[in-house]
Amino acid sequence: MAEKSRRAFLKEGVAALAAATFVPKVVYAKGQTEADKHSFSVTPAGNYDVIVCGGGPAGFIAATAAARQGAKTALIEKYGFLGGMATAGFVTPLSVFAFKGDLVIGGIPWDFVKRLEAMGGAFIEWPKANVDFDVELYKLCAQRMVLENGVSMLMHTSLIGCEMDGKRIRKVFVENKNGIEALTAKVFIDTTGDGDLAHMAGVPMQKNPDGELQPASFCFILSDVDTESDLLKKCMYHNGINGPSQCRPVREKLMKLKEAGEDIPDFGGPWFNNVLHKGSVAVNITRIATNSCDNRDFTRAECQLREDIFKFTDLLKKNFKEFKDCYVSACAPQAGIRESRRIVGVHTVTAEEYVNAYHYEDSISRGIHPIDIHASKGTSQTRIDLKQPAYVPYRALIAADFPNLLVAGRCISTDRQALASLRVQGSCMGTGQAAGAAAAMSVQSGKAVQNINTDALVSILKKWGAVL
Ligand SMILES: Cc1cc2nc3c(=O)[nH]c(=O)nc-3n(C[C@H](O)[C@H](O)[C@H](O)COP(=O)(O)OP(=O)(O)OC[C@H]3O[C@@H](n4cnc5c(N)ncnc54)[C@H](O)[C@@H]3O)c2cc1C
Repeated sequence: MAEKSRRAFLKEGVAALAAATFVPKVVYAKGQTEADKHSFSVTPAGNYDVIVCGGGPAGFIAATAAARQGAKTALIEKYGFLGGMATAGFVTPLSVFAFKGDLVIGGIPWDFVKRLEAMGGAFIEWPKANVDFDVELYKLCAQRMVLENGVSMLMHTSLIGCEMDGKRIRKVFVENKNGIEALTAKVFIDTTGDGDLAHMAGVPMQKNPDGELQPASFCFILSDVDTESDLLKKCMYHNGINGPSQCRPVREKLMKLKEAGEDIPDFGGPWFNNVLHKGSVAVNITRIATNSCDNRDFTRAECQLREDIFKFTDLLKKNFKEFKDCYVSACAPQAGIRESRRIVGVHTVTAEEYVNAYHYEDSISRGIHPIDIHASKGTSQTRIDLKQPAYVPYRALIAADFPNLLVAGRCISTDRQALASLRVQGSCMGTGQAAGAAAAMSVQSGKAVQNINTDALVSILKKWGAVL
């Protein structure tokens, strides 16, 4: 249908492809081809070396890295700001950049943290270097970094499809107030968290036989909290110095109320996280089983979680003097997603490799956060602390046979257990940095992403400060 329409278009003798109306072969989620049903006006709107889809921790670092390495780069983001779960999910802190005081995730991710700190927007909790941050300064710092490196930003722009030439992505289709636009690039990076582009392109995804996914949690800011109280001072930080970050007294009270028959929804933690402003904390307490890649299911879950936010706020006000005056000053723009699609890569990182810190010859990033699995139902959580920092191979960022696609962040090729550590933001930034540099190398060498020189990639990453 796509080819036929293009031929018809050419027959009419219209020379300029710009502003053409044709029926693209748009591949939607679940492999539907809508081309037979609808005609869209698609505007060719740009040609790049590298297009990065998704401006979260993995994506804005990947775009910065690709541009720094000389690639003409565009970054597509559905919100009007960068940061992904950090800013759209109020997920704090950024975990973790160091092990026993030594940096593990270095290079552009750490440059970002230091720059945010210099702006007054970050508090680095040593020795693990968990990073508490100001959400608004994070957005500003990330956008400055991306723009200064010459990246073209397309905000308020959703990836909606792609056109394939065999297993090569020819172009992506995006939707924004300009309409539907087609963008071409030599290499694409999927940093959507949910692996949207890889899915649309037909990359096989990790199987999930029992259907179990870590739950979503809708985080929110509570203000007029007594953050100077002992209760809050002890649990607002994640460096382990003042005890666990999970607020045990609140957890125990909520469990008792639940056991006594009070209508208390499933919850995790709770965690009351530092947002650098006296009287305010980012709260991570709600939890629900859902699939973020199913629009109706995610809508249902998010509506329920919004109810739960206000229920938990009332419970805190009633039961704890430290929260008696508190109010919800902001709900995150969306509920936070811990787990969804992951590609089947050339190599899948397993928990066994991960906990044993297996070193691959193409190691391009690290992880040190505990394996941290939240039960999708109930209140439990399983944690396995790592004894040493783990490694991530380049081969986990690429699928076999897809010559111009890389993924980074939450959707790389891991098993569920390894993901439960690698999903944290420092690690996502680390794989983003590697994907960006690798994409630029692929463009410059004209080689498929499977064939780039990984020794040269590692050299570039080390030159930037990566600790490999
Ligand atoms: C409740 C909760 C608590 C967590 N706790 C911590 C913690 O304490 N420390 C920590 O470091 N990590 C934590 N995490 C994990 C971490 O936040 C995420 O795993 C991480 O942000 C993933 O990064 P990413 O860049 O892969 O994806 P995301 O952060 O999800 O970013 C993806 C970006 O792509 C954009 N996007 C998605 N689809 C499209 C599309 N079709 N078109 C255009 N743009 C699109 C999104 O808007 C977003 O900006 C937590 C997560 C949750 C949900």
